[in-house]
Amino acid sequence: MSTDVFCKIVKGELKSEAVYKDDDFWVIKDINPQAPVHLLIIPVRHFLKIEDFAGDGILLGKALLLADKMAHEHGLDRGYRLIINEGDHGGKLVPHFHIHLLGGKRLGPKLVKE
Ligand code: AMP
Repeated sequence: MSTDVFCKIVKGELKSEAVYKDDDFWVIKDINPQAPVHLLIIPVRHFLKIEDFAGDGILLGKALLLADKMAHEHGLDRGYRLIINEGDHGGKLVPHFHIHLLGGKRLGPKLVKE
């Protein structure tokens, strides 16, 4: 059983500001927002990375569709950015698959300084 922060959040063991919940996904506000809208799409089941969805590609597709729906529900009709950080070089901090949804202003070419 995983004890990462997102597992704790979906188990109700840690508080979060959730804006959407269903049986498969929670969408929460990032605790350290990098844009006016910064949401995290988090699967309820513990997946570490994209390859863990190999037997369940439909769920991964649902995550993308949900991100798009959330973007429109949060007024990001002028566009948004999705980010998936993977591994050390990708800057992944929380070992539980998640998609960052960012928007609400014109985003620069990069969000993270080198
Ligand atoms: P990543 O580098 O892709 O693993 O990003 C993890 C993200 O999770 C960061 O943007 C953090 O600000 C965010 N985060 C970490 N802990 C929490 C939490 N308890 N509630 C909401 N967001 C969190």
